[in-house]
Amino acid sequence: MIIPPGSTIGIIGGGQLGRMLSIAAAQLGYRCHIFDPHEHTPAADVAAYVTRAAFDDIDAIRRFGAEVDVATYEFENLPVESLGALGDKLRPGARSLAIAQDRATEKEFIERCGARVASWRAVSSPSDVDTAVAELGGPLVLKTRRYGYDGKGQAWARSADEAAAAWQSIGEEPAVAEAGVDFAAEFSVILARWDEGRHAFWDSPENEHRDGILRRSTVPCSEACAAQVAEAREATLRIAEALGHVGVLTVEFFASADGPLVNEIAPRVHNSGHWTIEGAVTSQFEQHIRAICGLPPGLTGLTRGGAVMENLIGVDVERWPELVAERGAHLHIYGKGEARPGRKMGHVTRVVR
Ligand code: AMP
Repeated sequence: MIIPPGSTIGIIGGGQLGRMLSIAAAQLGYRCHIFDPHEHTPAADVAAYVTRAAFDDIDAIRRFGAEVDVATYEFENLPVESLGALGDKLRPGARSLAIAQDRATEKEFIERCGARVASWRAVSSPSDVDTAVAELGGPLVLKTRRYGYDGKGQAWARSADEAAAAWQSIGEEPAVAEAGVDFAAEFSVILARWDEGRHAFWDSPENEHRDGILRRSTVPCSEACAAQVAEAREATLRIAEALGHVGVLTVEFFASADGPLVNEIAPRVHNSGHWTIEGAVTSQFEQHIRAICGLPPGLTGLTRGGAVMENLIGVDVERWPELVAERGAHLHIYGKGEARPGRKMGHVTRVVR
């Protein structure tokens, strides 16, 4: 089914990903309708329509569904039940959402797809955590099954002594305990898939995190990652096909001595793909719009030799006068209010010649 330019695209979630999707959609002649509970959102500034309602307000979701020609989402912590009310208009479908929003379900699914993850256990009590430490050995990281992002809902236990404190610090919620991976580097595979099965990959960025938050993505990646990209792409494609995914799907990997291990799946455009706006012929945002609207794929090759994307986190955004004056630096500011610590306020991409 082709959704032609002039149609309305619904985007659930009004953050920076929704903002960059709306900008890409507008370039192709679409109008966007943002659904978000917050009073002011980065995406609302650049969209034609806004519905302000709770994500679990099923009546509001139904009304929104009646007003849009296709709907997508820009983050995964959304109630599957209410989004299910959008039926076939939702792309990617509710299945991609359901799998990606629970870390235990996600890991089981990844393993069923024949891809590998770090050794892990589901934990829901202090004694489960003790057993996991005994079985997996330390260090390990506890991650809440749901609602974690940017390192939130995570705590490390380097030994059995730290297990109780780690369990408390994640709020004693159902979690996964994951063996610490001694990785050489981290990278992601970003794929766009169409409903009839066509797909396209971008070059894989190498990703550097600090305090659980992405700081920098670099393309081309180092040899340590490049050597594992082919296997990681095969795993990503199997995951996308098993999900019946339509749109962009991002899978984050650890380049370990045992080969690529999946860290997590994002059923959407991703921070590690922001470099594609200037660094690739077609950005992840435009490609997502093309895929969900049934338009042909755009080319995903590099525009030049590569790109480096640096996130502007918290007060980093105050560097804007210097960055906006830097020749060749592409500055993106998301229009958020307060520059709180850890908050993604913008990014800057430098295309490499
Ligand atoms: P996540 O929120 O799961 O993407 O984790 C954020 C970051 O924490 C990752 O990108 C890694 O840098 C680090 N991390 C998460 N899980 C592990 C692990 N099992 N072993 C080593 N580092 C990890």
